[in-house]
Amino acid sequence: MKNKKISYTIAAKDLSAHMFQVTVTVESPAPEGQVFVLPAWIPGSYMIREFSRNIVQARAECGGQPVELTKLDKHSWQAAPCKGKLTVHYEVYAWDLSVRAAHLDQTHGFFNGTSVFLRVVGSEDVPHVVDIQRPAHEAAAKWRVATALKELKAKRYGFGTYIAQDYDELIDSPVEMGTFALASFKALGVQHDVVFTGRVPNLDITRICNDLKQICETQIAFFEPRTKKAPMDRYVFMTMVVGDGYGGLEHRASTALICSRADLPTISQRGKEPSDGYMTYLGLCSHEYFHTWNVKRIKPAVFAPYDYQVENYTPLLWLFEGFTSYYDDLMLVRAGLLSEDGYYKLLNKAVAGVLRGSGRTKQSVADSSFDAWGKYYRQDENSPNAIVSYYAKGSLIGLALDLTIRAKTNGKRSLDDIMRALWQRYGRDFYNGKPRGVTPEGVEALFDDIAGFKLKPFFDKYIRGTEDVPLAKLLPQFGVSYKDERKSTKPSMDVNIGRDGADCKLSAVHDGGAAQKAGLSANDLLVAIDGLRVNGNPSNVEGLLARYKVGDTVQVHAFRRDELMMFDVTLQGDRVPGITMTVEEKKTTPRRPTAA
Ligand SMILES: [Zn+2]
Repeated sequence: MKNKKISYTIAAKDLSAHMFQVTVTVESPAPEGQVFVLPAWIPGSYMIREFSRNIVQARAECGGQPVELTKLDKHSWQAAPCKGKLTVHYEVYAWDLSVRAAHLDQTHGFFNGTSVFLRVVGSEDVPHVVDIQRPAHEAAAKWRVATALKELKAKRYGFGTYIAQDYDELIDSPVEMGTFALASFKALGVQHDVVFTGRVPNLDITRICNDLKQICETQIAFFEPRTKKAPMDRYVFMTMVVGDGYGGLEHRASTALICSRADLPTISQRGKEPSDGYMTYLGLCSHEYFHTWNVKRIKPAVFAPYDYQVENYTPLLWLFEGFTSYYDDLMLVRAGLLSEDGYYKLLNKAVAGVLRGSGRTKQSVADSSFDAWGKYYRQDENSPNAIVSYYAKGSLIGLALDLTIRAKTNGKRSLDDIMRALWQRYGRDFYNGKPRGVTPEGVEALFDDIAGFKLKPFFDKYIRGTEDVPLAKLLPQFGVSYKDERKSTKPSMDVNIGRDGADCKLSAVHDGGAAQKAGLSANDLLVAIDGLRVNGNPSNVEGLLARYKVGDTVQVHAFRRDELMMFDVTLQGDRVPGITMTVEEKKTTPRRPTAA
């Protein structure tokens, strides 16, 4: 017999122990023994995380009688066959302060469904209801609830029962509970809630709402210029504010964010220019919001549906993350929040970042996408030498493709048309009964179709190949000069240096560079350069090296573990690219991408 619904309860059982108590009830368990599985990863963050490791104990009962629960593998349990309503009770340890898992203490609770809701195998497609219960602890007396889930028996922002149309929606709707700051705005008629958890005295939430409204309306109109229709009925921005942090995860009707307190505007700053930090926060919001279309509805075919237990390999993350990164800041410009000059400053930094690592000559963005699970998400000290970011280079591919199409079509077509075509053909009806993803071949065919010319050479060179995108060639056609000044006269060891307590530590040693040739390794602690102490400030190293010229040999003392070692380093010219893009003249056609 098919289940009509799956029911959960979740209660913050012990705030101090960071423990959620969860139950899942199945009216008609599978006759051969119902299987329950917790996801191994959370969509949007491409790494196997094995959330089941936080399930502390699980037991099952049927009609008041205990039912045997057998572990099938690290994520899965099978209940013994039973007749009648089957309930599994389990506890989940929640002490991961990130957007990817669950966190609970006296100040708030947050969870992603992937961390707490066991999947009832075979009943994924029926409605899933969850009773979110108020913690008994007095600290929680004034808590409210924020989630994109629809209320079934609950007031908006209240504890009670919420409903999702299926398991996918349930675990794509994170929940925040606490005494958060809350404000709302409408963007083209759709309610958007903005929630801040954490201490932020004098937060200017009104300013944030005003700015987010501009971003949201710009993006809705971007994808639906005619109907101006948003793809969701309501949207929730939920931000955890900390001393130092940054990150976000996209969902179909909400996003979970983490940001640094100093990045948020205060009431005393009202009327002043937005800080760089605030622009970073708005860029993050813009990025996650763009995902509402690009990856939550326009999806790679392998994500339709997701397999939550294993890696879902796709060579297309350069499109889903890279192009989202291209548009996040661009949308700030189009929304009138970021100046063109400010935009080029961010772009200069992005280009320099991509050109810094030699990994870009060894891995294409297609391969970087495919290997995200084992490489991009498992970065180590050798990553700059081994991999390229499908975010960073992907965003430059977006820019280069946009410029290429605009130049070739004399401004008649652009990357915007491609995004809208992807939306119309794949995204718009994704949750309306046509869950169809796009294949790599489908992407290339659609790009050709909309651009009106064959993009195979572009794909071969920059997407499947490892060539640098030709910005120096493309930008001048749009009145933007591009200067790449490798500061080759500045003496350098060709390393990345980080602070490690009172010391400087080599965080990366670049392939073929001066330090590597001399035998220095990542994680070595610098002690002295030609007998002068290196302190914990990385700029101190630069100062010491500035006394020399390229080609000079210096003696470097460094600790590897607890052993003091000595190296003769012959200094080379700094390979950090100094990129400067400047708007030279206002050309009417083809238009610069920011002008559209
Ligand atoms: Zn993203």
